[in-house]
Amino acid sequence: MMALNLEAVGKPIGPVDKSYTWKDVVLYSLGVGAGFSELDYCYEKRLKVLPSFSIAAIFDFLAHIGATSNVNLAGILHGEQSLVFHNPIPPEGTLSTKGRIVKYYDKGPGKGALVIGESDTYHSNGKKLFTSVITIFARLDGGFGGENAPKKEFVFPDREPDIVVDDSPSVNQPLLYRLSGDIFDLHVDPEFAKMAGFEKPIMHGLCTHGFACRALVNALIPGMPEKARRMDCRFTKTLYPGTPIRTLIWKVDEGKALWKTLNAETGDVVIDHGVFEYGDPVRERLDFSGQVAVVTGAGAGLGRVYALELAKRGAKVVVNDLGAARDGTGPASSSAADRVVDEIRAAGGEAVADYNNVATREGGEAIIRSALDAFGTVDILINNAGILRDKSMVKMEPETWKAVIDVHLNGAYHVTRPAFKVMKEKGYGRIVMTTSAAGLYGNFGQTNYASAKMGLVGFMNTLKLEGEKYGIRVNTVAPLAASRLTEDVTPPELFVRMKPEYVAPIVLVLCSKQCPVNGRIYNAGMGFYNRAAIWTGTGVVLGKGSVPSVEEIRDRMQAIASLKGAKVYHQLNEQVADVYAAVLNPKDVVDASTEEESGSAFTSAKAVFDAMPGAFRADAAKGIDVVFQYRISGDGGGDWFCAVKDGQCQVAAGLYEKPTCTFLMASGDFLDMMNGKLSPMQAYTGGKLRIEGEIMKSQLIEKLFRIDRK
Ligand code: NAD
Repeated sequence: MMALNLEAVGKPIGPVDKSYTWKDVVLYSLGVGAGFSELDYCYEKRLKVLPSFSIAAIFDFLAHIGATSNVNLAGILHGEQSLVFHNPIPPEGTLSTKGRIVKYYDKGPGKGALVIGESDTYHSNGKKLFTSVITIFARLDGGFGGENAPKKEFVFPDREPDIVVDDSPSVNQPLLYRLSGDIFDLHVDPEFAKMAGFEKPIMHGLCTHGFACRALVNALIPGMPEKARRMDCRFTKTLYPGTPIRTLIWKVDEGKALWKTLNAETGDVVIDHGVFEYGDPVRERLDFSGQVAVVTGAGAGLGRVYALELAKRGAKVVVNDLGAARDGTGPASSSAADRVVDEIRAAGGEAVADYNNVATREGGEAIIRSALDAFGTVDILINNAGILRDKSMVKMEPETWKAVIDVHLNGAYHVTRPAFKVMKEKGYGRIVMTTSAAGLYGNFGQTNYASAKMGLVGFMNTLKLEGEKYGIRVNTVAPLAASRLTEDVTPPELFVRMKPEYVAPIVLVLCSKQCPVNGRIYNAGMGFYNRAAIWTGTGVVLGKGSVPSVEEIRDRMQAIASLKGAKVYHQLNEQVADVYAAVLNPKDVVDASTEEESGSAFTSAKAVFDAMPGAFRADAAKGIDVVFQYRISGDGGGDWFCAVKDGQCQVAAGLYEKPTCTFLMASGDFLDMMNGKLSPMQAYTGGKLRIEGEIMKSQLIEKLFRIDRK
């Protein structure tokens, strides 16, 4: 005798893939009664997809559930169906469905069993489209000794429905509907139907379900099927094709309706217990309830905002701050940390203050002990405390150097070590390092700070590997924000737009359970976010098996430096493996030098100006104060200026009030000149380049910029 496969519970089924085109969508819509009055569901030029298309489209998957459970196919009926819609269904693509049998219920010998199957369906656009829970009523499989299904309460409001929708499926409806996938004989073959005990072929339950779905969408979210969020129901009776149906709808809540569909001739309920939810998708809020976060330097600036935001979202926060001056000097004060703790508590959050110095071993350990004493654990650590002591190289005394390294780099080490121990033991942790554009890209007068900040990137690169198998993720933020560290170097009109609040959201994502990355660096500020990374060129193998000469290296510098085909490595091993592979199979290494010229020519004026700051030679700019205005006409043209002063270069779009000289050129000629096809002298004498203002100063360009086409 066949028996249910009880072993199948929980085992993965699928993925089952199914590609579909607009024709499948239209065929389905026609199959469930749409027509000229709902042309959006039937016309490929403005096609929308009915939410119930979902279940028809995964019919193959449903068959897998049946087969895996080993139900007696002669006795199965579609019992209940729940659909939760996460994203709108595109009019074409491939659906990939994965799921499992979650439960069997036993109604008793002769009474049947229930097979509950759950699945998630993703689209080839990467989005999760819908979750289905199907209940198969297996009439012939009862009595296997399992528990019975719990009784579900379902009560319709004790009043007339708010909306009534009448419809009349045609006598031929199943012949059209079956082309969407369910080709079971019961819906087409009169002989088969008679054998199964019916007068004639019956409607597919899911076809009536599609009629009901149309009725619900048209009544509640007309023309906006993407707003359907949930559609649940229970199939109760069969229906013959050509029988009129009536769907009754009660609006019970904001975005929620209950519904049922009747045989309009007899009043019998054919689909019962209907729930339909609709509205905009609810974005899942990132929640930190029950988690413990340590934020160093949280008495002011960025750290304060991180602490407030984490606490607002449920985290218990240790607000660490020594309360020193901007350069780390002056008497320590507890007031900075206390103020932030007061703010958090006033808003209903939980926090404790900690006044220890990150820059010492004892300080670091004490900070983590504060977390353990107050809240029992540490889930999140944001290494944020910082000071500045800017000096140019010669004036950079060892104490100045060391003070900055001590707070930023050694400080992060001292706090991270005891925190990492806790995280490793519990198998979970999120650590955020704070780097800076000064370290990533360089900034005059900040050798100490830039070294510490880049040191933190190296620290992350290794710690991310050590934490990986313990569920610990380590990432880095490079903020740009108004604080006492930046107030004197930022123009006042920008300073007000640089609220630290703009940096906090990405830091919170990196601290969250859902954090999708490990070992990444992000610039963040003023609403601008991007990733920074260390790219490594594909390289060349030189020397033909022996040590290459100095001259050979000199002559191949362009190929060595090429970033064409560059990669980002996750760890040392990957890079060393590439070196080994290149040296052992030198032929496989593409010599990028020959492709460089044509491969990376400038293709727009904007690209030239984007690259300009990178080509600036600060060493050649001493004492120079000039502004070059460029006015490029034609396709892709525009106005840009380049201001050089105090060894710095600023390039921006727009017109400068009084430039030193102005260059006027057509965009094609300008690109030719920048790509080396037209010399500036030729352009000038041939009338392709006009220069206004102090012509002699235009010659400074060659001195100020490395003319090294990239
Ligand atoms: P901030 O001065 O407002 O805040 C830093 C906090 O760290 C201060 O409250 C200070 O008291 C505290 N602190 C200093 N030394 C400490 C120590 N030894 N122990 C404990 N606490 C100490 O500065 P911010 O701009 O909010 O900077 C936060 C972090 O972001 C720093 O690491 C900074 O280098 C980095 N950063 C900031 C910017 C920016 O644009 N603001 C840019 C790049 C990097």
